[in-house]
Amino acid sequence: MLTRENLSCAKRIVVKLGTSTLTHANGKLNLLRIEKLIRELSDLHNQGKEIILVTSGAVGVGMDRLGLMEKPKTIPEKQAAAAVGQGILMHIYEKLFSEYGQTVAQVLLTRADSVNRQRYANSRNSLLTLLKLGVIPVINENDAVAVDELKIGDNDTLSATVAGLVDADLLVILSDVEGVYTDNPSKNPAAKLIELITDITPEIESLSGEPGSLRGTGGMYTKIQAGKIAMSSGVAMVIALSSREEVLRRILSGEAVGTLFLSKENALHVRKRWLAFGSRLHGSVTIDKGCEQALLEDGSSLLSAGITAVEGDFEQGNTIRVFTTNEQEIARGLVNYSAADVEKIKGRHTDEIADILGNKPYDEIIHRDNLALLV
Ligand code: GLU
Repeated sequence: MLTRENLSCAKRIVVKLGTSTLTHANGKLNLLRIEKLIRELSDLHNQGKEIILVTSGAVGVGMDRLGLMEKPKTIPEKQAAAAVGQGILMHIYEKLFSEYGQTVAQVLLTRADSVNRQRYANSRNSLLTLLKLGVIPVINENDAVAVDELKIGDNDTLSATVAGLVDADLLVILSDVEGVYTDNPSKNPAAKLIELITDITPEIESLSGEPGSLRGTGGMYTKIQAGKIAMSSGVAMVIALSSREEVLRRILSGEAVGTLFLSKENALHVRKRWLAFGSRLHGSVTIDKGCEQALLEDGSSLLSAGITAVEGDFEQGNTIRVFTTNEQEIARGLVNYSAADVEKIKGRHTDEIADILGNKPYDEIIHRDNLALLV
């Protein structure tokens, strides 16, 4: 489990930059700050860390470019501002990250991507592949298409959802607040920074305080909600001030910067437990002895070669059960192929899949990251 002392061990890190970090009060990009942060993120990537950036600012930057002085009130106006601003943001990320030799990818998500299993598997797989390729995914909500009921709504929640989705070790939320205080520090000079939160008690929730600024949507409330999601997803989270010099290096070297939310001790496998017990089961496969051994002893993914039988009528992205030849259920996981396709490729080598099906979207029937072992 990550504590202050060993935060440097975090390998997969999600960093969320808020609108107030990315822009000046007038809505123009805060280039100096963005440059510093991108330099730091690039350096972390150079050290071998996997970095995912969750960016806000699309609506704010779009408002500025369109000359809007007030936050748009109608959904289509917000969507338009976001569509304009998102391009501007990506332009600056592409430019600055590439100066440091980094490759970025734009990924726009909506709420539907995490509640719908197939899309959950799809977005998880694409993010993990980007990381494997050494790319820094730059994520925002797909504001240009999402109407309210489809929206995650704020990027604090989005960043915690993403951190859970990819099993990140650490989520860092950088904004214009130093962390969680015992009271509102702008009103009460005696308010103290809380350095460590191990549990989100009702008292902590009551510290949620004021809503966000003109162009952003966050505030402490959404940050504490993000803390809840991160902690129970097994992800440590730090809220810190983005304007602090070398803020990311300091956090990772264990300095007492901002507020650290510890992940729940037994939460490491929460996502997989959810996978195993929280989702509807759509069918099963039976596997041979060699495959069983590979899953249990070598931590391998489930490949087509080891499958001997298929039951049920599942689709790609459904949760299915994995049985041994003596009918013991040893795992559950998110499947990459439909039952009809698995039926065709069972017992066959991975290299043969493309010939049999006409294409091979995945090497694995169930990737080990999406496989919860039950024994
Ligand atoms: N997705 C919104 C944007 O890019 C930001 C939401 C937030 O500020 O949390 O403008």
